[in-house]
Amino acid sequence: MSGAAWPTWLDEPLARGLAMRAHALLLHAPGALGQFDLAMALARAWLCEAPKDGRACGNCTACHLMAARSHPDFHLLLPDALRAPLGWSRNDAETADDGEGKSKAKPSREIRIDALRAAIDWSQRTSARCGAKVLVIHPAPAMNAVTANALLKTLEEPPGRLRLLLTADDPESLLPTVRSRCQRLALTPPTAAQGQAWLAGQGVAGTEVLLAAAGGQAQAALALHEEGISAAAWSEVPDAVRRGHGDALSAWPVPRVVDALHKLCHDLLTLQAGGAPRFFSAAALAPAARPALPPLAALVAWQKELLRAARHDEHPWHAPLRVEALTAQAAALWQTTRVAAPGRGGALATLPGR
Ligand SMILES: [Zn+2]
Repeated sequence: MSGAAWPTWLDEPLARGLAMRAHALLLHAPGALGQFDLAMALARAWLCEAPKDGRACGNCTACHLMAARSHPDFHLLLPDALRAPLGWSRNDAETADDGEGKSKAKPSREIRIDALRAAIDWSQRTSARCGAKVLVIHPAPAMNAVTANALLKTLEEPPGRLRLLLTADDPESLLPTVRSRCQRLALTPPTAAQGQAWLAGQGVAGTEVLLAAAGGQAQAALALHEEGISAAAWSEVPDAVRRGHGDALSAWPVPRVVDALHKLCHDLLTLQAGGAPRFFSAAALAPAARPALPPLAALVAWQKELLRAARHDEHPWHAPLRVEALTAQAAALWQTTRVAAPGRGGALATLPGR
């Protein structure tokens, strides 16, 4: 995603952020709407030595250093698990390595306390250039309570001209003591038209389907496209699952399969309740609804199973076997039949099929 075009829906929050004087900003939005891109744009603007209309010029030494990821007055705190997806290798981020040599361990989803301490040490050094310093913490909820508490003093009284940018999906997931020390900057989701136009500009086809698949999050839709998941492949999911054709999903990463099944389950439950589906089109869901949708109780049980699977989706199981097991489990939903319970008009009972 690092090479993607600037998300146009961030223009407005960027202008708002540039007008804010607070030394600590909390950039938040429901879901991933480009908080990281916005944080980086604000950092570039604040560090630029010849800003134009408050924005980074792109030409000064500071802008070049930012582009090369070697600005000495910029520091990024990122969980290891986000480095590859965001295109920031460990050396880029200037974060002091802990040297524990955990190269074989799964990349952490947490911002570690030692990385935070290194950032605090960095923040106390004199600025190497014009005086401004920027610390980005993405996402701030990746700090556990101990780490977040270690940040409080810096957040309360940043040394020199340090400014902090924290990001979050849900500000409520942060410690109240952290939240209250930041001024909030809310991002608003792009309209469907804005999201689709942006995706089309990146060469994505089937933008309407992929945007829905990503719950309206354009950058997540782009990620689907970059993983090789086309609009057609997404639309085939409901029918493939109903027919137990796990091979249709076998090339997808296991977490992506779990996510797709989750979204399918959500839409089937919504259909059961008479609502409009969110992630799949009505046309894509039609084969799954014929001759009947799986019964409500079976869908609710499946949803619980999927939540469990999501918690273990990084379990080092053999991926194709895992996908096969997940789709076989899903296909079994359609093996249950619905019959009217005697004496209760319209009430439904679930019986095993056959
Ligand atoms: Zn500049």
